[in-house]
Amino acid sequence: MSDNNLRFNSKTIHGGQEPDKAYGAVMPPIYQTSTYAQSTPGGHKGFEYSRSANPTRTALENSLASIESGNFGLAFASGLAAMDAVIKLLNPGDEVISTNDLYGGSYRLFKKVFEKFGITFHFVGMHDSHKIEAHINENTKLIWLETPTNPMMNVIDIEKVSVLAKKHNILLAVDNTFATPYLQRPLELGADIVMHSATKYLGGHSDVVVGALVVKEKELAERLYFIQNASGAVCGPMDSFLVLRGIKTLHVRMQRHCENGRAVAQYLAKHPKIKKVYWPGFENHPNHEVAKRQMRDFGGMISFVPKGAGYEDAVKIVENLRVFTLAESLGGVESLAGHPASMTHASIPKEEREKSGVVDSLIRLSVGIEDVNDLIADLEQAIGQ
Ligand SMILES: *Cc1c(COP(=O)(O)O)cnc(C)c1O
Repeated sequence: MSDNNLRFNSKTIHGGQEPDKAYGAVMPPIYQTSTYAQSTPGGHKGFEYSRSANPTRTALENSLASIESGNFGLAFASGLAAMDAVIKLLNPGDEVISTNDLYGGSYRLFKKVFEKFGITFHFVGMHDSHKIEAHINENTKLIWLETPTNPMMNVIDIEKVSVLAKKHNILLAVDNTFATPYLQRPLELGADIVMHSATKYLGGHSDVVVGALVVKEKELAERLYFIQNASGAVCGPMDSFLVLRGIKTLHVRMQRHCENGRAVAQYLAKHPKIKKVYWPGFENHPNHEVAKRQMRDFGGMISFVPKGAGYEDAVKIVENLRVFTLAESLGGVESLAGHPASMTHASIPKEEREKSGVVDSLIRLSVGIEDVNDLIADLEQAIGQ
């Protein structure tokens, strides 16, 4: 079956996959093997050693390519391992322009690991393309963009940035973890590389840590594949299987995440004890028009600031939640709450954090797919206390 004829909600189930050749298994089997018998030296059936390729991982990589409208997928041991491979395309002296309110671990990887190898990172507010342009010079090799941003839910116009990147011959990579290809497909908007922490919505069940890259161009895919194999941070067969299974229900889960997200955002916006709610679905969200254009819906990620609250008050609210679990991460079927200042963004210096709006009292929600009335009742009791 050719994927190109399928719509998104079918690609999640069938994209890049066919029944297993050995016995017709409908789900790709978990090929828990490191190596493969050869009939003669070099005589193999396409697989030699599981760092280089494994059939379960290949099935996941084909599925990823299909749902992101790309031609090549690569699955890694984690989202950060996938990012690590992208930065290894660069050389000392190269410069990267990145979103300023970035996932904390991405910031740490850039600043603490790669800066010492002579790569320079600029962190800018990308909703203003002049700010991006101001940092471009002949050493700029990569623009790294996250949208919606974490945790401030800013939305960046991918198409606009891609025009700028192409004009200056710079690679554009988009971290599509928050939106997922159900909501937005960066390669269709001109990006060169899509990256995922498949740990989040793609896996969708908080049971695995996996990363992914998807690209269109063969030459770029080959360079990334070389790094994947040479560095070795590959996704194992069991984890590949779990993400494949997750992807099959991505569209159904996302639909409910969006419905519940909308209801929770609207509830919080009306709450007398809440000062500010960050969710791109609000008409008065500064990037609402861009969000409407490039996303199918607005997702289940919401941040909010309680009125007159400080660090301790925010901590108390997240501790009081009963249906929402206080935890790092996002994108699973269960609702999670987090306190960025002490959790996901603790590795970013306070001044840097606050510049982009991550104040001490900010709370982030990953709205799950439970009954939304239970979620709202839980927030009601936690905020009211
Ligand atoms: C979690 C996350 C990452 C890192 O992915 P891991 O799978 O935890 O390595 C990167 N970007 C975003 C937006 C994330 O939420």
